[in-house]
Amino acid sequence: MVFWTETKSEKFSVKSLYYVYELDNPSLFPSSCISNVWVKPKISFFVWEATWGKILTLDLIQKRGWAFANRCFLCYEKEETIDHLLLHCTKTRVLWDLLFTLFGVSWVLLSSVRETLLSWHGSFVSKKRKKVWRATPLCIFWTVWKARNKLTFNDDVLLIQRLKYFFVFSLWSEAKLFIVDYPLTIVSFINWLGSS
Ligand SMILES: [Zn+2]
Repeated sequence: MVFWTETKSEKFSVKSLYYVYELDNPSLFPSSCISNVWVKPKISFFVWEATWGKILTLDLIQKRGWAFANRCFLCYEKEETIDHLLLHCTKTRVLWDLLFTLFGVSWVLLSSVRETLLSWHGSFVSKKRKKVWRATPLCIFWTVWKARNKLTFNDDVLLIQRLKYFFVFSLWSEAKLFIVDYPLTIVSFINWLGSS
């Protein structure tokens, strides 16, 4: 259970986040790209926080005065920022490339999480697949964040194949909630994504 003090019941609701954040800066926040997408509340919550730069990545911890070398837990090459981790890291790019291959589209990622979500309309995706398309960035963000935390806390090894599987599995699990006649297996789901 996530407690959220902005609502009377203290239970988390995406709508309550909407009011808290949206009031500050309505034009620049991709609210409909998060709150209108059918994914689990914990995923929406994470993406709201990430979009507002409130996820505690190493660069933010450094800004709070902690001195240490900032290295991304996934690639060990670049510094960890939220935009690097969720968009530009070479390991994360594997998931974005997989996504574009599954949908059969060409796409250029924008520089920030916020810009990416604002541009994520999917007007070229068929009506049947549009809800899934809209859920995809959120599922990538969530998959990468979970993998990153596992590497941080468990001293685990990043396996790209496992990362790809977790992403497709996460997307399939979320899609079950809203696809009519949803594909019963991951393989049939992958075929469904590639259909028109
Ligand atoms: Zn990286």
